Amino acid sequence: MRLTVLGSGAACPPAGGVCSGYLLEDRGCRVLLDCGHGVAPALLQRRPDADLDHIIISHMHADHFIDVIPLRFRLTRDMSGLAAPRVQLHLPPGGIATFAEVLAAVCFPPDFLSSVFIIDEYAPGAEIPLGDGLTARFAEGIHYIPGYAVRIDGSHSLVYTGDTAPSDNIGALAQGADLMLSEATLDEPEEGPVRGHLTARQAADLAAAANVQRLILTHFWFDTDREAVCKEAQARFAGTVAAAYDGMQLDLQGASRP
Ligand SMILES: [Zn+2]
Ligand SMILES: [Zn+2]
Repeated sequence: MRLTVLGSGAACPPAGGVCSGYLLEDRGCRVLLDCGHGVAPALLQRRPDADLDHIIISHMHADHFIDVIPLRFRLTRDMSGLAAPRVQLHLPPGGIATFAEVLAAVCFPPDFLSSVFIIDEYAPGAEIPLGDGLTARFAEGIHYIPGYAVRIDGSHSLVYTGDTAPSDNIGALAQGADLMLSEATLDEPEEGPVRGHLTARQAADLAAAANVQRLILTHFWFDTDREAVCKEAQARFAGTVAAAYDGMQLDLQGASRP
């Protein structure tokens, strides 16, 4: 299983940076997790044909989905779409309605996406087969809008938190995974009832409670000190910790833990 970080930025990444986007390749299957600002050109740098099998969107904030629009144009510039759509676009519950509003607002036809992608909405708790023994499962986190973590099981197991505050649901989903790709957006924990993000320490606690093997922190603001964030997490988590950067590539090798 290979993970390529296409974009590790939060809603405003650093200069030249890219918002959330992660390419997962395993057993010949290519899955794009999230598709925020800048992800389409970052993907084309590595895969000029944009030859994806699946796109999974964690939640409907622009920094996680907006580049589905340029990606659609890469697959065809013909506004009538493709004769045989192949790439599956998996949206969170309510994602189809949100995209309909976005397309109307930018004056694209209602079938702009459905004529190019095979679109569905996933359900938390359900399992989606991705092909070649790869599966995806989802759990709802805690964010300002409905947001979901995804677990991919194949030759190894990876959990991507999406955007979330500390969440028992995500802890349960991540149990025993080889890798947790966790947001670490905050400098300080949020106080009060409205929460939606993690500090690096909270991400480390989530990873430790889930007994994952390694942790990659991501979803950083333009001014985040990634080295400092990494140290904060390392102090609370015994496994390997790294801070994501755009272009980072990681091959998970060896046997996956049972
Ligand atoms: Zn975000
Ligand atoms: Zn968000």
